[in-house]
Amino acid sequence: MRLGDSAGRTDAGRVRRRNEDAFVLDPPLFAVADGMGGAQAGEVASRIAAAAFREYHEADRLEPGERVQAIVQEANRRIYERARSDSEASGMGTTVTAALLTGGRVTIGHVGDSRAYRIRDGRIEQLTEDHSLVADLMRSGRLTSEEADAHPQRSVITRALGTDPEVDVDTSSVDVEPGDLFLLCSDGLTTMVAEDDILRILAGASTLDEAARELVRAANSGGGEDNVTVVLFRVEGDEVMDETLVAPPPAVSPDGDDGLEDTLTDLQPVAAPAPPPAAPAAPAAPAGEERRPRRKQRRWGRRLLWAVLALGFVALLLGGALFGLSRAYFVGADQDGNVVVYQGVPFDVREGVGLYRERYVSRLQASQLSPEERAELFDHELVSYDRARARVSVYEAEAVP
Ligand code: CA
Repeated sequence: MRLGDSAGRTDAGRVRRRNEDAFVLDPPLFAVADGMGGAQAGEVASRIAAAAFREYHEADRLEPGERVQAIVQEANRRIYERARSDSEASGMGTTVTAALLTGGRVTIGHVGDSRAYRIRDGRIEQLTEDHSLVADLMRSGRLTSEEADAHPQRSVITRALGTDPEVDVDTSSVDVEPGDLFLLCSDGLTTMVAEDDILRILAGASTLDEAARELVRAANSGGGEDNVTVVLFRVEGDEVMDETLVAPPPAVSPDGDDGLEDTLTDLQPVAAPAPPPAAPAAPAAPAGEERRPRRKQRRWGRRLLWAVLALGFVALLLGGALFGLSRAYFVGADQDGNVVVYQGVPFDVREGVGLYRERYVSRLQASQLSPEERAELFDHELVSYDRARARVSVYEAEAVP
């Protein structure tokens, strides 16, 4: 068994100006890193991690699991030191998902919400567990995967490199067979492209370069809301393999492309309120309408009255809702993992459009909170601004050493 082709690609996406992702294509060692932090700190963190993977050879003689562990710890140390010594970089961090192919196994090292997948026999299997708030809640049964996908705080991670002197690294290893394809990616891919679609794209590509390009393209046409990075490598037998990258998936269902539209349709009943009780009942449409032009006219008048009443009702609802929104606050965390006081209610009307806005952004990272406190970030209890601020002040006071 030997390593076949490999390919990597990263893209800023369609919304973010900077690309804070980085990747390593240093066969037989591969990695993706998704950095976070204010200003340019996210880029710094992911690049330091990538550099550690390329440069740190002191671990080369170790067993694969220990070797991956040692490199990730070294990357963590470098980022942590930099964050401590450089105030511009304070609070920065990065995810890392790495894979090392040795003999008949692939060893995975993982921190954060980037992912590793193995594609075999037309099936895709996730090899890592996300270290994220929504993944925690899914594991404890408090959130379904659909709810997690749509959750405003889905990108808040609970473990990262650079926040502490030591980091807890998940390491695991899986066997490989000729034809296995491995994918490492940042969440910019998996939040935009469903696993079935990833599989379909891989099956449709004739080279790994093309596959990487098409995956990035799919993330961008799905919204491109985040930086997207993919690394692919393939394991081959000693004899020449057939040309296809992936066996076609067993049964491809035609649905599943319209998740965003679903969200919109779900919301539509709000815009079509029940008729106000005081209004007269709508006349049933009688047969032979065309023979009674006068009644028709009157009916149109009635419909107009109805429309006006309905509009007034909607305006009242909206006004009430806006008034409510302006007085409601809750504590949560933003994309960069900072603890935030939001004004409004914790719902997204659709991808990227929420009924809330930031009122106070703390320097405190959600990952610095205790597990109980992090869980509280999901309660989204609506309170006054003063109460929300007071709660964040308590968190901040506790976090100061
Ligand atoms: Ca990301």
